Amino acid sequence: MRIMRALRIMKWQSDPELVEVPKPVPGPGQVVIKVGGAGACHSDLHLLHEFGEGMLPWNPPFTLGHENAGWVDAIGAGVTRWKEGAAVAVYGPWGCGTCPRCQLGIETYCENPMGAPVPGGGGGLGLDGGMAEYMLVPAERLLVPLPANLTPAVAAPLTDAGLTPYHAVRRSWPKMGPQATVVVIGCGGLGHLGVQFVKATTAATVIAVDQKAAALDLARAVGADHVVTADDNAATAIRDLTHGLGADVVLDFVGAEATMKLAMAVARPLGDVTIVGIAGGAFPFTFFSQGYEVSLQTTYWGSRPELLEVLTLASRGLVHSEATEYSLDDAAAAYRDLRAGTVRGRAVIVP
Ligand code: NAD
Ligand code: ZN
Ligand code: ZN
Repeated sequence: MRIMRALRIMKWQSDPELVEVPKPVPGPGQVVIKVGGAGACHSDLHLLHEFGEGMLPWNPPFTLGHENAGWVDAIGAGVTRWKEGAAVAVYGPWGCGTCPRCQLGIETYCENPMGAPVPGGGGGLGLDGGMAEYMLVPAERLLVPLPANLTPAVAAPLTDAGLTPYHAVRRSWPKMGPQATVVVIGCGGLGHLGVQFVKATTAATVIAVDQKAAALDLARAVGADHVVTADDNAATAIRDLTHGLGADVVLDFVGAEATMKLAMAVARPLGDVTIVGIAGGAFPFTFFSQGYEVSLQTTYWGSRPELLEVLTLASRGLVHSEATEYSLDDAAAAYRDLRAGTVRGRAVIVP
């Protein structure tokens, strides 16, 4: 049995630990990848520090890392699509594979979660993820090929920090015409890619909002037309920039009380407000609390076909994830920096 290093959540309400575990062996239909990149998502901070026993259908210990890419290392019996050495990205939400949603590649909203490898999770979310030298992928359909010009380290963050905002942007495309304004709140790992997806796929104007000057600098560098500091004047500033009309689409990559309130306050009638961040905010939705026909929704991750589109956009140079790389030995530091808010774009562990 070969031993490898892995960054694991050992128990709820704790910091992750670098430990030694057995290298996985693929069973029938399964694939083991050699990890080339694993992104550190803010959701892992919620997972490590805010969740506890009984709040999710699964418990620690498991290896962190739910945005992963690498190379096929070993295949199990019956695997036909992949050969050793192939560069791949892992589609992260793991459903049952056969229900109507899964058949469309929308495994985020699997309707038979008890038939999935773990209900409502995946690698790094209940099962072992990619912050290790190797990772077990339980079905070959959960891998997608990497375009030749994208390395696993570059592609890894695109599987969540890319896919999640892409899904949120794509569903509101009809409201992102040339005269439209899109407000992006929170310009970290997800948000800085959200800005780019709007710019790369529509002609809408983008206003980026964050409380950190460095995040606003990044938003501007990746194409935001305007930046607004998240303070008491933010709603007025957005109203002024939109000539009093408000924003056609607001994407909230924070999801706190204050950002949801701002999002609803600046949404133009007929607009979309999409809450992607899971900071636990609430909004009292009444008949008069927002403009007429403003739609409020949450989104979770994205579909497998959308992941292919994200990789195509990156391969064509239309979007890229700003990344700071860490070794596996320094993986715990990546989470410390993420928590301190000092990461530019995404922290990516490169084992
Ligand atoms: P991140 O830490 O990389 O970025 C968060 C950004 O928001 C930072 O730039 C920070 O300065 C800014 N911010 C924080 N509070 C703010 C406020 N009150 N006003 C304005 N800006 C503020 O985080 P991330 O990895 O991009 O994740 C963002 C959120 O999305 C997290 O809550 C995460 O759990 C969630 N998430 C949701 C999904 C989904 O499918 N719905 C997927 C991945 C991540
Ligand atoms: Zn995530
Ligand atoms: Zn399913």
